[in-house]
Amino acid sequence: MSPQKYISQKDFDKIKTFSKDKKTPLLIIDKSKIEERYDELKKNLPFAKIYYAVKANPNDEVIKILDKKGSNFDIATIFEMDQLIRLGISADRMSFGNTIKKESDIAYAYKKGVRLFATDSLSDLNKISRQAPGSKVFFRLLCDGNGADWPLSRKFGAYPDMIFRLILKSKKLNLIPYGLSFHVGSQQRDIGQWDNAISQCKYLFDSLTDADIELKLINIGGGFPSNYLEPTQNISIYAKEVTRFLKEDFGPNLPEIIIEPGRSLVADSGVLVTEIIMVSSKSTTTNYDWVYTDVGKFGGLIETIDEAIKYPILTDDLDCKETKEVILAGPTCDSMDILYENYKYKLSKNIKEGDRLYFLTTGAYTASYSSVYFNGFPPLKVYVI
Ligand SMILES: *Cc1c(COP(=O)(O)O)cnc(C)c1O
Repeated sequence: MSPQKYISQKDFDKIKTFSKDKKTPLLIIDKSKIEERYDELKKNLPFAKIYYAVKANPNDEVIKILDKKGSNFDIATIFEMDQLIRLGISADRMSFGNTIKKESDIAYAYKKGVRLFATDSLSDLNKISRQAPGSKVFFRLLCDGNGADWPLSRKFGAYPDMIFRLILKSKKLNLIPYGLSFHVGSQQRDIGQWDNAISQCKYLFDSLTDADIELKLINIGGGFPSNYLEPTQNISIYAKEVTRFLKEDFGPNLPEIIIEPGRSLVADSGVLVTEIIMVSSKSTTTNYDWVYTDVGKFGGLIETIDEAIKYPILTDDLDCKETKEVILAGPTCDSMDILYENYKYKLSKNIKEGDRLYFLTTGAYTASYSSVYFNGFPPLKVYVI
């Protein structure tokens, strides 16, 4: 595979030099890439407040980089909140974005100073009103996730009829009905999905003025792209289109806009360095060899489920002329630990045990997903350089 599309020769050399004498597997995060992505996003959506979705990569060093940049943070749990507080980030820079919360956790977050909560159900709203009185609440609309490589559909959000009722209710419960949110699905390829969701927001904003409720905020979620195998539009195109959708519906005076990027901020910063443990054929007449690497679904590559996310993969032998299609699998004793079987990656014909594979764009949803000692394999090691 030609690397130029995904990583410069200079950056690739830097990764190779750093990992040369280290045992695989290891994930290397390039700080400067995160800073670049942050600046790029800020430049393209200057009116939006960034709330980094911590779950994408909760590494302390990554959080510190984004803290320094002035980012806010979207937390899913009190554990993420405590981590951020430990790093010196105050609770007024956090939103509690998970709509599935224990009442005791809401109480704890409130005690620590969190005053901005997401919700999508009556049960959760009641809990917030009891444990976080007077807080600002934003209501999550359900999206179907169509067009996304990693949809976040069905489980989160509610339809506009329910959201409308919840908003009316929240006012009675002495909360501040502050805004709406949605997530169009992660690695969303269809920019039009934002158009649909923003139109729904407009409809609700308008309907609510009759009830004397003026919403102030739209949280346009995550879903912005990173550089995986199949190309997407550039982030600037996404930003331009989303801005157009917002202005078409809301005119020049936009409501407060929040964006919650995870993947698009951190994925491109990561290179996962792995080693080939074994190359084998299942029959004398088979077309495809199996290539087993020392990282699989349980070692951090869980987003290969259904081959949803396809990472660009490089080898040391970049200008190999002759390639072959292979099946890629992980090292554990679980048969679901196959990375790519339908989609056939092409590797050098001479690929052999001990060779290294470099999985690019692995800065998001990898290390934090890696299992704790399944088959005795330790969690993925991370270096931030
Ligand atoms: C995971 C998540 C995000 C981040 O989504 P990306 O597609 O990785 O940018 C943002 N908001 C919420 C509520 C999430 O759950």
